[in-house]
Amino acid sequence: MVLGGSMAGLLTARVLTEHFGRVTIVERDELSGSWSGDPEADPRERETRRGVPQGRHAHGLLAAGLDVVEGLFPGATAELVAAGVPSGDVLGNVRFCVSGHRLRQAPTGRTALSFSRPYLENYLRSKVFALPGVEVRGGHDIVGIDADAGRVTGARVQRRDGGPVEGIAADLVVDATGRGSRAPRWLADLGYEPPREEQLHVDLAYVSRHYKVDPALLDGDIAIIIGPSAQAPRGGAVMLQEAGRAVITLFGILGDHAPLEDEGFRAYARRLPLPYAAEIIEASVPLDDAVKFRYPGSTRHRYDRLRRFPRGFVVVGDAMCSFNPMYGQGMSVAGVEALRLGDALARDGADGFDALRFFRAVRPVIDIPWQIATGGDAALPGVDGPRDARTRMVNRYLDRLYAAAAHDEAVSLAFSRVTNLLDPPTALLRPAIAARVFGRSVHELRATPRR
Ligand SMILES: Cc1cc2nc3c(=O)[nH]c(=O)nc-3n(C[C@H](O)[C@H](O)[C@H](O)COP(=O)(O)OP(=O)(O)OC[C@H]3O[C@@H](n4cnc5c(N)ncnc54)[C@H](O)[C@@H]3O)c2cc1C
Repeated sequence: MVLGGSMAGLLTARVLTEHFGRVTIVERDELSGSWSGDPEADPRERETRRGVPQGRHAHGLLAAGLDVVEGLFPGATAELVAAGVPSGDVLGNVRFCVSGHRLRQAPTGRTALSFSRPYLENYLRSKVFALPGVEVRGGHDIVGIDADAGRVTGARVQRRDGGPVEGIAADLVVDATGRGSRAPRWLADLGYEPPREEQLHVDLAYVSRHYKVDPALLDGDIAIIIGPSAQAPRGGAVMLQEAGRAVITLFGILGDHAPLEDEGFRAYARRLPLPYAAEIIEASVPLDDAVKFRYPGSTRHRYDRLRRFPRGFVVVGDAMCSFNPMYGQGMSVAGVEALRLGDALARDGADGFDALRFFRAVRPVIDIPWQIATGGDAALPGVDGPRDARTRMVNRYLDRLYAAAAHDEAVSLAFSRVTNLLDPPTALLRPAIAARVFGRSVHELRATPRR
């Protein structure tokens, strides 16, 4: 049984169908499982639903995440591209700007898709719901879990429009209810120690608006990502999407949030570290009003550190760890976790499944993006992140690396593999890369090229 039918829930449900005869997804929103393959045909397929309000904002899938999707749903990339989802090379056609440097673009041979979050989710839903044995309870709130003698035996659910609370029995209950997960409380109620919480407060806000954008304005790119710099700790994303639209998201931390009204939004864009988003906004036609999403900070629940945990229960996705969305990692990490859950079930069998062993096995899957996100945030002024000598040294090295990556294809490629979760951050310290980073004079590095 999977609690929550969003990205983590869907990918996990797909994996569970290989190990269980019946998989029930319980979700508070009513969910449609139809997908027309034509983004113009039914605008509802692109609409954000209540349970996933972040769906209005720019969402990218990293190369590691697309690998998972393609592995679980072979042919997905081709099908999405055929349905009008803009595609290109993950570095060759994605303009990535970090700390005020526009990274050198080069083909990697890896595909990137640029979609609206609801459209991707709708596509995956249509695939998962069509699998034999999958049952969907949309419009149901999860009220709690049931347990007996150290084992979770199911969950209690209730229709959102009222009615009695109903118990559903399950051999395994997976909590994929996102950041608001009540699993820590459920555990405490059952007499277990809840996981310790690690947090990095950033007070981030995304403000997004859809536009009719002439793709020629992106000069062959499908997306432009502008990360914050220490001098201008705000950023933005321009992403072409299906149905000839684009989403433009502006974000800032520690209360420096983009205004919703038109003039303020445009003025905010002009003060990003690089001008690309502002230029595109000025040349494009808005299609709707801007909307805001506030995100207090990355939160990691240390389930991997617990000593006792009930059998028959596990936690995945944002419910386990929610990453600052600026780094675009959440969906991809949820996908890798789903694969690891499949590995654990294949190894131990459904009866022998041990959640604590699973949490420890996914520790490195979370450690790396966590380190990237919290390390990146700590480099921004005012963020109360790790400030030890090692972090300071790494951030100084990275400053130089970003500047080098604006000139040097090999450095840019190495960095892109790390941010796409294909290589660990230590790959950036390899002698061949370090030599390139230190091989240019500071003067040369300061001259950031603009195409
Ligand atoms: C502004 C923003 C931008 C982001 N950008 C990116 C990006 O570019 N790339 C990326 O990979 N990730 C991004 N993320 C993160 C990404 O959205 C999540 O990591 C991803 O959705 C996986 O989350 P999840 O499925 O665990 O939880 P969620 O997506 O939060 O879904 C939880 C689901 O559980 C349901 N639910 C919750 N409680 C209950 C209940 N009691 N009863 C019934 N149902 C319930 C909800 O309705 C929802 O469907 C972004 C996040 C934010 C906030």
